[in-house]
Amino acid sequence: MFKKVELIKTAYMKGDYPPPLNAEIAFAGRSNVGKSSLLNKLFGIKIAKISSNPGKTRSINFYNVDNKGYLVDLPGYGFASVSKEEKKKWANLLEDYFVNRYSLQMVFLLIDHRHEPQKKDIEMIQWLRELKIPFMIVLTKLDKVKKSERQKKLNLIKSVLSGYGEYLYFPVSSKTGEGIGLLKNEISK
Ligand code: GDP
Repeated sequence: MFKKVELIKTAYMKGDYPPPLNAEIAFAGRSNVGKSSLLNKLFGIKIAKISSNPGKTRSINFYNVDNKGYLVDLPGYGFASVSKEEKKKWANLLEDYFVNRYSLQMVFLLIDHRHEPQKKDIEMIQWLRELKIPFMIVLTKLDKVKKSERQKKLNLIKSVLSGYGEYLYFPVSSKTGEGIGLLKNEISK
């Protein structure tokens, strides 16, 4: 489905983005939500991990997919041990990307399936809504939720987020591969 995926740009500064291709989708979520694991599973790419080194400068990473589009790995947010200054820098870069990157078509927002959406997740949703950027929700680590609990958990997350709008939800597990096919189809669209 995806043949060649190549990191072609690591952006640390506003506006330092590659020329647009036909499609562009971005992946966002809290640190540790499982974003690297998911991108790895979906695209077979090894994401440079920053979670083990929180002091390291965050970047927006552009991956060229079959010369058809970019998948964009956004820096994970909500990392407690990052300085205020660093957080501000990151927020400025991300804001610039969201506001000025007209080729951005869709964001997949990753939320841990086990927990209720957190303040930072809600803030991200409100931000995307304000900027009128379409997004869908990916619920990660599905394998960690008991089968008998899944519907209940999903309903709980939906009810929390229903105050902010109606969204599509993709429960996935990068470990077992559950839900990955459905998500891949959506990305291909
Ligand atoms: P990131 O910081 O969002 O890139 O998160 P990572 O992909 O590094 O994952 C954080 C932790 O969660 C790691 O220990 C992963 O092994 C684990 N993890 C990620 N996805 C899954 C999943 O689908 N199932 C399980 N059981 N663990 C996962």
